Amino acid sequence: MAELKYRRVLLKLSGEALSGPKGHGICSDTVDGFCREIKDLCKLGVETAIVIGGGNIHRGVVGTAEGIGRTTSDHMGMLATVMNALAFQNSLERGHGLQTRVMTAISISEIAEPYIRRRAMRHLEKKRVIIFAGGTGNPYFTTDTAAALRANEIDATVILKATKVDGVYDKDPKASEDAVKYDKLSYIDLLNKKIRVMDATAVTLCMENNIGIIVFNAFCKGNVRRIVTGQPVGTIIGRLS
Ligand code: UDP
Repeated sequence: MAELKYRRVLLKLSGEALSGPKGHGICSDTVDGFCREIKDLCKLGVETAIVIGGGNIHRGVVGTAEGIGRTTSDHMGMLATVMNALAFQNSLERGHGLQTRVMTAISISEIAEPYIRRRAMRHLEKKRVIIFAGGTGNPYFTTDTAAALRANEIDATVILKATKVDGVYDKDPKASEDAVKYDKLSYIDLLNKKIRVMDATAVTLCMENNIGIIVFNAFCKGNVRRIVTGQPVGTIIGRLS
């Protein structure tokens, strides 16, 4: 079996990533593609937790611009993450035979377990994939911050931040041919350069607790396996060697 660099990881997927070519809602083929990668991680023995966003269904600020109160709109956004988490759970279990638990920060006890840290740790030890839903459970936050928070709580060594591009660039690689990719960045650089790969609250939480972030292209097959087995992929943020 391949030598593992990271034994417990937190994978952050934006809601948008699940929408596939449609650009909104949930694309089952796209979800299936991600689930294949997660199955690969499980086969390697990596303990895996996932935080999924909700932007493919509802984003708080978008609702606010349309006249919904911010708190209500954020509650809607958090519920959207639960729908995405259930789609993921369905695919991981029915499509790939993995054991999973959805744990939510907002109580919906008929549908998902409440988030209880000690229970989460037990699930990971038993090699169940955890899908954290409901963000942090609080309005005015994002699922990036939820990812940073949960990564800290479950003692994950790294956050794998899934994106559509293969790392962090000095300028938009789609708009500029001469854009240069960073292999490594410090948290402070990320904050000072105002690179919007994760929001500042999430980055600060990672910085204060020394949680590394790897920004990578989630649509490139095999990338998560490469990362956990120590191959250089994407951009490393923080003090990971
Ligand atoms: N949200 C929230 N608190 C949280 C996490 C998320 O209020 O702790 C709401 C917020 O409205 C956000 C929406 O849920 O816009 C969807 O989350 P996010 O925008 O982070 O999803 P992503 O961009 O990753 O798809």
